[in-house]
Amino acid sequence: KGSTKTTYHIVVLGAEGVGKTALVVRYLTRRFLSEYASTEESTYNRTVNVDDKNVQIKITDVIGKSVKQPSYVRSKIQKIDGIVVVYSVTDRRSYEAALNLLDLIRLHARPGTSTPTILVGNKVDLEHIREVDADDAEKDASEYPDCFPMESSAATLPDEAAVIFESLLKKLINKRDSL
Ligand code: GDP
Repeated sequence: KGSTKTTYHIVVLGAEGVGKTALVVRYLTRRFLSEYASTEESTYNRTVNVDDKNVQIKITDVIGKSVKQPSYVRSKIQKIDGIVVVYSVTDRRSYEAALNLLDLIRLHARPGTSTPTILVGNKVDLEHIREVDADDAEKDASEYPDCFPMESSAATLPDEAAVIFESLLKKLINKRDSL
């Protein structure tokens, strides 16, 4: 199949400060920085290898207030193939924001369809100040169609960002191949 010519568009959503940019930068460059100075939405176009196939990906890292606007989220989810929703395990409010995003995503899906989504609990290196249990996230994620929970630390688990994006890409490839 012509999957090498296909582009998979992934959008990364979540409250400010949870580590969205850190995860994307970790995946694409393998590095971690302590500050990310971006104030605008960034889109990265890359070719990556997943399951011995080269696939084109486009990752949109959403910055700032736009993520809180339902109309913005709606316009995005109707154009993209996969979603990463990030919260920080150290911040209960960011988790509630993530669940609100999952509600919006489900609400705005085209009838009979769903968009593969990974719900990511980031900052697990800060275990001593954890506010969100992995078990709760697992239970809540199961309430949404095509939604899978994972945990990560962009800071201390250098391979985890790739595991997250690749597992999402595998779902997108399987979905498109089965059409
Ligand atoms: P964004 O607003 O969601 O894009 O968040 P950033 O990627 O800008 O990260 C916000 C802050 O959290 C920065 O100071 C990062 O260095 C820090 N950060 C990101 N990921 C982690 C992590 O896994 N562990 C810890 N301890 N800090 C992190």
